[in-house]
Amino acid sequence: QFISFEGIDGAGKSTHIRFVQEALNQRGIQVVTTREPGGTPLGEALRALLLKEKMHLETEALLMFASRREHIAQVIQPALDAGTWVISDRFTDATFAYQGGGRKLDLHKLNTLEQWVHPHLQPDLTLLFDVPIEVARARLDATRTLDKFEQEQSDFFNDTRNEYLRRVAEFPQRFKVIDSTRSIEAIQEELSEIIDALCVK
Ligand code: C5P
Repeated sequence: QFISFEGIDGAGKSTHIRFVQEALNQRGIQVVTTREPGGTPLGEALRALLLKEKMHLETEALLMFASRREHIAQVIQPALDAGTWVISDRFTDATFAYQGGGRKLDLHKLNTLEQWVHPHLQPDLTLLFDVPIEVARARLDATRTLDKFEQEQSDFFNDTRNEYLRRVAEFPQRFKVIDSTRSIEAIQEELSEIIDALCVK
């Protein structure tokens, strides 16, 4: 099984990734947890550039997909082939949401890149941690200094969130939206039920 975690910055993804990984391990399931951009030495080098440098929007999208190509080749596909589960902190939905929704890159171009880089691979399940942007901002401000992307305007995060939600409507069978305004405990209860359902499949 390939599970991706998505959401705007401050939606609480990281906390829940750790929880799901441990819950799967407790059920005897081997899991590789990885992230995008990143996940390989080359991908992590690209991530450092992407988070720091100003660049043309299309360069940014191309580097996201370059990182992803390497990630699929070196980490995701080999793990899935070996029967290991993969949890990825972001995948292609993030590129549609951030570069497409947030920064307004033509979605057709992103579709073309997706068809090139992974025409047949999709997550079996995508968990979208969804919060209104005001909640996300308040959480981020309280916990850490913001990187290049996180310093963007509210409009940007609204557009990013809306593109995520548009994709939920487009691919309802793959997405599960987690209302991330709730307490961590309430969310973990829901995640446990989702995991139980996955494990009996
Ligand atoms: O998920 P994570 O917080 O590690 O992402 C790092 C940064 O990269 C975030 O600030 C996110 O907004 C940004 N990002 C992006 N476009 C993507 C993926 C991540 O702008 N496709």
